[in-house]
Amino acid sequence: MTYTTNAISEIKDHLDVVSCLQHFGVRVPEKGRNVVACLCPFHQERTGSFMVYKRENRAWCFGCQKGGDVIDVSRLFLNCDTAGAIGYWKQRLGLEGQPISSQQATEAQALRRLRDHVRRRSLELERFDIRKEPCMESYLTYVFSEKEDLDRRFRDADGKPEMLAYLAELEAWHSWADSILQGAWSYWTSRAMAVLARNLNPEAADAYSPIGPDDLSAQRGLQNV
Ligand SMILES: [Zn+2]
Repeated sequence: MTYTTNAISEIKDHLDVVSCLQHFGVRVPEKGRNVVACLCPFHQERTGSFMVYKRENRAWCFGCQKGGDVIDVSRLFLNCDTAGAIGYWKQRLGLEGQPISSQQATEAQALRRLRDHVRRRSLELERFDIRKEPCMESYLTYVFSEKEDLDRRFRDADGKPEMLAYLAELEAWHSWADSILQGAWSYWTSRAMAVLARNLNPEAADAYSPIGPDDLSAQRGLQNV
């Protein structure tokens, strides 16, 4: 059914598997690896067999063989059929009463491709990779200047007891740097998405409102990218 296919892809344009699972109370980390294992919400277990594939926007339990895309997963949680899951998300995502024209369908596809692209990029977040992004420069400069300070303080630590302290601080720096860069990167991509969404479809742009970097920049005294 064309309408259903359109409705499903429209929902997938607005809903990723992580948000979907979190909505139903599954604890799944947003950041980090593309594939994460969680405790399965559909059967009792002590170790996680429920694999969340962020890039593919799917989840699957190797224990009870349940899962699928966001619609399949929603059907399982809601104990309803596809139409029920579509209605549920249309209402929550504010997509009701918006019949999709072919023009909008094309735009939705373009958006989906871009979203998949930025999702891949943020998942594959590698420092040397995002260094290429001009918008990340101020963050990178800041983060690495902190590391230089750290290195300077422990310059003569090699082979000495201070080495342990240095490694501990380096470890702390790594997680701090990751969170700063991930935050900056996701802000930048969500802002880019918002601009694109507004250009493509002003009425649907609200769904892409980015979360501002205010807390990040206030904490760290950084300029907004
Ligand atoms: Zn399971």
